[in-house]
Amino acid sequence: MSPHWRALDIDLSTGRIFNTEFPESRVRLFLGGRGLGAAILRDLTGPGTEPLGSDTPLIFATGPLTGAGVPSGDRFSLSTLSPLTGTVLDTNSGGRLGRSLKRAGWDLLIIRGAAQSLSILKVDNSGGELLPAGEMRGERVSTVLGKLGRTYGKSCGMAVIGPAGERVVRYASIMTERMRAMGRGGAGAVMGSKNLKAIVVMGSGEVKVHDRGRLKVVLEESNRWLRAHPVTSKALPALGTPMLVNICTRAGIFPMANFRRVAVGESKAYSGELLAREFTVGRSGCTGCYIRCGRITEVDGVRGEGPEYESLWALGPNLDITDLKAIIRAAHLCNELGLDTISTGGTLSCAMELGSLDIRRSSLNFGDSEAVLKAIGLIAAREGEGDELAEGSRTLSRKAGAEEYSMQVKGLELPGYDPRGVQGQGLAYATSSRGGCHLRGGYLIAREVLGIPKKVSGREVLGKGGHVARAQDFGAVADSLSSCRFATFALTQEYWSRMVSAVTGWEMSGEDMMRAGERIINLERILNVERGIEPEQDTLPRRFLSEPLGEGACAGEVVRLDDMLEEYYARRGWPGGVPDREKREELGLS
Ligand code: SF4
Repeated sequence: MSPHWRALDIDLSTGRIFNTEFPESRVRLFLGGRGLGAAILRDLTGPGTEPLGSDTPLIFATGPLTGAGVPSGDRFSLSTLSPLTGTVLDTNSGGRLGRSLKRAGWDLLIIRGAAQSLSILKVDNSGGELLPAGEMRGERVSTVLGKLGRTYGKSCGMAVIGPAGERVVRYASIMTERMRAMGRGGAGAVMGSKNLKAIVVMGSGEVKVHDRGRLKVVLEESNRWLRAHPVTSKALPALGTPMLVNICTRAGIFPMANFRRVAVGESKAYSGELLAREFTVGRSGCTGCYIRCGRITEVDGVRGEGPEYESLWALGPNLDITDLKAIIRAAHLCNELGLDTISTGGTLSCAMELGSLDIRRSSLNFGDSEAVLKAIGLIAAREGEGDELAEGSRTLSRKAGAEEYSMQVKGLELPGYDPRGVQGQGLAYATSSRGGCHLRGGYLIAREVLGIPKKVSGREVLGKGGHVARAQDFGAVADSLSSCRFATFALTQEYWSRMVSAVTGWEMSGEDMMRAGERIINLERILNVERGIEPEQDTLPRRFLSEPLGEGACAGEVVRLDDMLEEYYARRGWPGGVPDREKREELGLS
């Protein structure tokens, strides 16, 4: 591996293109991907940088494993600032873009400034070129992907925005050629604010591997574990993430109607099993993945990607909609328009609850699937009520003077797990670096519901500070290596460290990598604090803290956040919620 990581650095405003190099010693500190992206983001932005201003960079970062043939490890990260939350934002996706960048000889793609008119950025081994995209204005994601595929060949990596990104909807997503989303936090709005409709990457070189023999050995062992683990070998391939619908329902944490209640009894109307039986016509997945958790579904002759668990929940039961056909249509539409499904659902459910309480006038009612389809179109176009909905649930509810009905943390709408029955997940939502996110928080559902790596009680609070901190650190490692979280269900940090050593020649133990994960979490916290996101925002919507669950397996529970937060801050070494000088020095952070 080269002693430097190479970045193609493009200023869309001036058209200037730079080749920048990052010393390997710095890359190792942050591993690559999400970690390196956060470090560069701190270099390039300041406390006053506006997420939608032209100064905000889009940093596409590969990981050390990208393109090396590691299972579920062909992903890449995008780091920027979130126009929805104001926090640091990283988002991790599967698609050919990361692998294509590596093959073109680039480890990173940094995009700054804003183009004067709607453009496509084409990247190859020799550099980058800006091309006009005016005729694509307003076009849906699959239309743009189809055109790019016909022009540049189907093997290139692509990242595109839909109409929602062009209209700078604050939770617009970026989609890859495999309809995999960079969904959360509004990266699509940042790309839209730069007048960038699409990025196409073509690479023709080889990805270097330090020791192929050593890699072969560890891959054989890793693949055996992936094929033996019940989740990665059976449940995810068979049902995809919607396998969680009935599991979470039985656990008493499957939310309905903007978290006003949880589902009880098994759902037959919208389960993963029904989705597989009635609507799934194929599996899909990220490049280089054996698990392939994605679903291709068809409704009335129209095919599309998904819904996965979160989309199914957010656009279905979260809106009191249980008709699976209607849910699939809504999920397909969000993908086509380039909208994050969780924030779309969370904003609609907030509007529905405000409307039902006569706090705010709305055409939206719980259970009305036709109104939801119409509203999704209005949001993407920022027309009528859609313009207000496009700002997200926090802004919507604040304007109505009723923020408590917005189910979000730091402005990011929550996914489909009621934290009252999974206390650790509640702490994870409260402390995640990008707001109310199950993944950046540490995905405690693995421990509290699925029993991975071992079962801990969801109703217990003692010890959750340590569980969340450790899960967050490991998540940061996975995102920075650009591997998939699901593969970490079967493979411990030791396997990942052996893969990294084989590919890069870096000799790192599993604990060295966990230390890097801790460094990344601390860096993101520092970045957020510098941006004015104070620890007081490590909280949850009032509903979870003071309204006990009324029914189901966790009836009577509220989230006991204060106890867990105290333990978490102590475990992290963050007095008052902020890394102090001693902690920064210990981790080599200024
Ligand atoms: S398990 Fe699913 S999300 Fe993960 S890499 Fe495979 S297809 Fe992508």
